[in-house]
This record gives sequence, C-alpha cells and structure tokens, in this order.
Amino acid sequence: MTKSSKADLRSKFVLDRQDFQSLLDALNADGYRLIGPTPRIGAVVYDEINAVEDLPIGLTDEQERGTYRLKAGDPGRLFGCGLGPHSWKKFLYPAELRLWQAHLNGGMAIAANDHVPERLALIGVRACELGALRILDRVLSGGQYHDTVYETQRERLFIVAVNCGRAGSTCFCASMGTGPRAETGFDLALTEVLETERHYFVVEVGSEAGQRILDAVPLQPATDADVQAADAIIADTAAHMGRALDTHGLKELLENNFEHPEWDEVATRCLTCGSCTLVCPTCFCTTFEDVAELTGASAQRIRRWDSCFTMDFSYMVGGHVRASAKSRYRQWLTHKLSAWVDQFGTLGCVGCGRCITWCPVGIDLTEEAATIRAHSQPKPEAKTRKKKIHENA
Ligand code: SF4
Ligand code: SF4
Repeated sequence: MTKSSKADLRSKFVLDRQDFQSLLDALNADGYRLIGPTPRIGAVVYDEINAVEDLPIGLTDEQERGTYRLKAGDPGRLFGCGLGPHSWKKFLYPAELRLWQAHLNGGMAIAANDHVPERLALIGVRACELGALRILDRVLSGGQYHDTVYETQRERLFIVAVNCGRAGSTCFCASMGTGPRAETGFDLALTEVLETERHYFVVEVGSEAGQRILDAVPLQPATDADVQAADAIIADTAAHMGRALDTHGLKELLENNFEHPEWDEVATRCLTCGSCTLVCPTCFCTTFEDVAELTGASAQRIRRWDSCFTMDFSYMVGGHVRASAKSRYRQWLTHKLSAWVDQFGTLGCVGCGRCITWCPVGIDLTEEAATIRAHSQPKPEAKTRKKKIHENA
C-alpha cells in the first residue's frame, strides 16, 4: 500500500493503542504544540501534553447538576472522561489579552496586540465542541467585524476529534444536532474501542492535513467489523444522553414568555456568579480596561472575558439596564436559545452540559426551558405586546 493510497479523505483506519504515541510524535515532528485533556487538581482540563501518559488514562467522571468528580474508569482507556470545565475557546479567544499599547517617545508609538498565534494540535475535541467552534466562527469571523486574534489562531489548528463512547449525565448534544459523532470540522476523528483482547482506535480522515500526518503513523485498514464496532459505540452514546432539550419552536416560545413566572422562580436560586458563562464554549462577552501610567508615558487597553451576569456588564449611561437576577438570567437564557438565532442564524448552545455541571446551585437550562414550555403563557396580542414592551423599557 503506497502512502498516498493509505489515507484518502473519509477513509477509515485502525490505530492500535500501543501506537497512539506515534500519532502525537507525528504532530510534534510537524511543529504542532499538543493540547489535550489532562487531570489536574481533581478535574480534567485542557493543557499542554507531550506523551500519551499525560491523558487521563483509566479515569472517568461523574457529573450532575452542580457536581463533578473524577473516579476510576475502564483500566487503560484514554478518553473515558467527558468534558471538564475548560473549553477550547481559551486558546482562540484568550481570557485576557492586551489589545494595544501606546508609548510617548518624542512622538507616539502604538504597538498592536501581543498575541502570538501558534500551530496547535487539539487532541480529543468532542463533537459538541466542534459545534461550538462553528458557532464562534460565525460570531467572531463570520460577520462584518472580524476578531483577527481568533482568525489567525483558528487557521493554525490541527483538530483530532474523539467520538464520545459515553454521554455524561448533563450532556444533550443529540438534541442540539451537534453530537455525539464528529461529522465535520476535524482533521482526524477517532473512536476508541476497548475490547477484552484488543484496544484500538478507528481513525477517520477529515482533511488533507490529517491525511499527511497519518503517513508517519502505523495503521491498518479498518475492516467492516472495526467500523461497525465504532458505529455501535457512537449509536449507544446517542441513545443514552443524560438530558434532552426540545428545540421545536424554542425561539418563539422564549420570545412569547418574557414575563413567565419561572424567571422569578429561577432568580430565587441564581447567584449571578457567571460560572455558566465562563465554562460555556460559545459565550463571548468581554470587557475592556484602559490602564495608563501615572507619568502619562504609556497606556494600554486590556480585553478580558466578562459575563452578562455581572452588574457592570449592563451599566449604561448612569444606570444598570439589568439590575435584577431575574433580568440577567433571562437575558442569558433567551440570548442562548432565542435571540442568538436573529443575530447569528443558529442557537447559541451545543448541548455540552457544562453550565449545568458547573452551576454551584445546580440550575439546569434544559429544565428551565421545559418548565417554560409546560406552562407557556398565551402569545400576547400585538396591542398588548406593544404595551408590555413599553412597560419594560
Ligand atoms: S445560573 Fe448558576 S452558574 Fe449561572 S450565574 Fe446563576 S448561579 Fe451562577
Ligand atoms: S449554554 Fe450550557 S449546555 Fe449550552 S453550550 Fe453553553 S455551557 Fe454548553
């Protein structure tokens, strides 16, 4: 088998577990810095990895609303953990970034942002996270204004997706049409198959870059039985989603229930801490801070992640336009699941479940949406609606 025939687009191969390091080595040799899931202080986070031993081998996680625990899983399994608190967003849209810096030195010298794009290979990207990247593509580079830091980093990614072999109890990607199978947007997609006598990965090629990397990796052509084993794992994951969200007419449902009593109820529990927005792979709100030296010799502008749950985020012209917890939670949920469609042509949620797991009081957006649907208010007549908008101004 020649190298060029070895890995055509959409071809499927088998990579034995014992050869997994050779995939990492091939990416390293091609100049990529490897980022992947790795266990740190009780959670799996995304950070630099160099060897297969850096992955959370043999671990799995237990997730529920407001709960996350790592525990022993199938011995030897490399990708037995689901999503942790980190998303890939932090590598493309940094949590803190100096946008520019100005120095007085005779004249004024202005330096642009200090971001240095890198060739990054993201190892273990889940299908819902590919969905989140597609959403960020629309938000940050699909419109009139482009985030050049995001774009230059996005162009330098190599994505190794991993199809999920288990749905976490807060996952609902099947409802959002984003998973659990990685369909597009990857260079390579792996399905981990762990059998009594055999541990291997079914590898699908998704790009020419993926094809090229595989030239340096020992592979076997996947048999029908190998592909069927991988397909069965993904189908089983899809059949065992932890949660579901009915998206039928959801945009209009939320638009028509702006005064639903559930917004008052959820406000009695919500701490407005903003954790849900920080762990969300699609939330993109930021704030800006200008810092000047007392001497006036230099100044800089810093961009930081912010949250629609902070008071200052909605401070405008001498007042807070969303002063209550009710208005801030309603803003977040209706933006994600309704207004986002008007802005970007897609819902803003991919069903990763992070906001449910990492909410300290266990607020679950699938449950909130279901409660509003179950006790939906009648659609206000046009006249009443105008009056309500006036009252809420
Ligand atoms: S919903 Fe939960 S995570 Fe989000 S702001 Fe409220 S308390 Fe914090
Ligand atoms: S809203 Fe929640 S479930 Fe949806 S993408 Fe964000 S963190 Fe994930």
